[in-house]
Amino acid sequence: MSAPLARGACPGLSAPMETGDGLLARVLPVGPIPLATVAAFCAAAREHGDGTIEISARGSIQVRGLTPLSAPLFAAAVAALDIDICEGVPVIADPLEDDPAALIDANAVAADLRRAVAAARLRLAPKVSVIVDGGGRLTLDALTADIRLRAIPTAQGPALHVALAGNAASATPLGVLAPLAATAVVTDLLALIAARGPEARARDVLRNDGIAAFRAAAGDRLAPASRLKARPRAEAIGHQRQKDGAFALGLGLAFGHAQAGILVELCHLAAAHGAQSARPAPDRILLLGPFSEATAMTTRGAAERLGFVTEPRDPRRRIVACPGAPSCASGLIASRALAAELAQHLPPSGDGIAVHVSGCAKGCAHPAPAPLTIVGTEKGCGIVHNGSARMAPSAYLEPGDILTEIVRMTGKTREVVNA
Ligand code: SF4
Repeated sequence: MSAPLARGACPGLSAPMETGDGLLARVLPVGPIPLATVAAFCAAAREHGDGTIEISARGSIQVRGLTPLSAPLFAAAVAALDIDICEGVPVIADPLEDDPAALIDANAVAADLRRAVAAARLRLAPKVSVIVDGGGRLTLDALTADIRLRAIPTAQGPALHVALAGNAASATPLGVLAPLAATAVVTDLLALIAARGPEARARDVLRNDGIAAFRAAAGDRLAPASRLKARPRAEAIGHQRQKDGAFALGLGLAFGHAQAGILVELCHLAAAHGAQSARPAPDRILLLGPFSEATAMTTRGAAERLGFVTEPRDPRRRIVACPGAPSCASGLIASRALAAELAQHLPPSGDGIAVHVSGCAKGCAHPAPAPLTIVGTEKGCGIVHNGSARMAPSAYLEPGDILTEIVRMTGKTREVVNA
């Protein structure tokens, strides 16, 4: 067994991360990518990696199975495709283009911000991130960030609510600013974090210096703000109405991954129905479009037959699984095969993650706790209730006995779950 690998780095193209199944390259596209370019990206992933492509919970694309020799070739192939990729501090903005409900063009604000932060040459911790939420339908409330901006309506027009260190529910409100001031203020807030050291995060500054340090950095550009009301959970699977009668179609990657060949097939299918581009989105989603309502429906049906998740309540969305054995050298169980088996017995629900299947204690697919974590160990499948893969299991089972746990957890009888 290989030792679990260290976590903490955000690998890009030039510095892929070592994993149990080779090197992993992660990129964060910041706009729609022409379908022909997506297909070429997938072809490069197949040629230089093992052909497994993932979309992460934060909307990054990950390519697995690269080698020290093939990774630079893959990087060169992707560079030639001229995809707009976020290369510095991750600034995540609305994934849905032309959202009629959005109050501002969050992607334009994010682009300005990326340029300003790059020019400031700040030395920030690799995980420091910023969110720009335009106030549209596909909210970014579930993602955590050091600095979050959310467009809100005011009597004077749209303004940006600023909050620190968390997701929409947990972040600390800082103030409200005019959209034109966003670039300068956020750069100053990031400079404050950078000044606390190369590993500092917004939460550290809050803990050590309090909110006053951020208020001082923003000065009179901020008006006071309170916590915003929670919004309904954003659902990116399915048809998404855009401006001018167009639709985007959100499809999920089962357990967050797909083979490059299947994705190429999806690109051809979408193009045949009039779509032009695709964009990865948070929650392991790929948004394709634009479609008419009718062609979105037809494409959705065909995508389902290719194995993509087309229904919000698909049980596969309730399970997170890493590659596990045999793909990953650290894997002690076949995580994704087991996840596929378990998904057949989970009832449909929109209630979030229910099960995490992890090939080893590293738990890289889902570091957070889950109601049920099944972790590969030398003693079999370790069972952790309401905890993470890193916690000590309360019991050990063989893969064939895991279904009993699912039955117990869902409160159903075995007959109902098996039906
Ligand atoms: S958690 Fe999964 S992918 Fe990560 S190292 Fe362990 S087996 Fe490999």
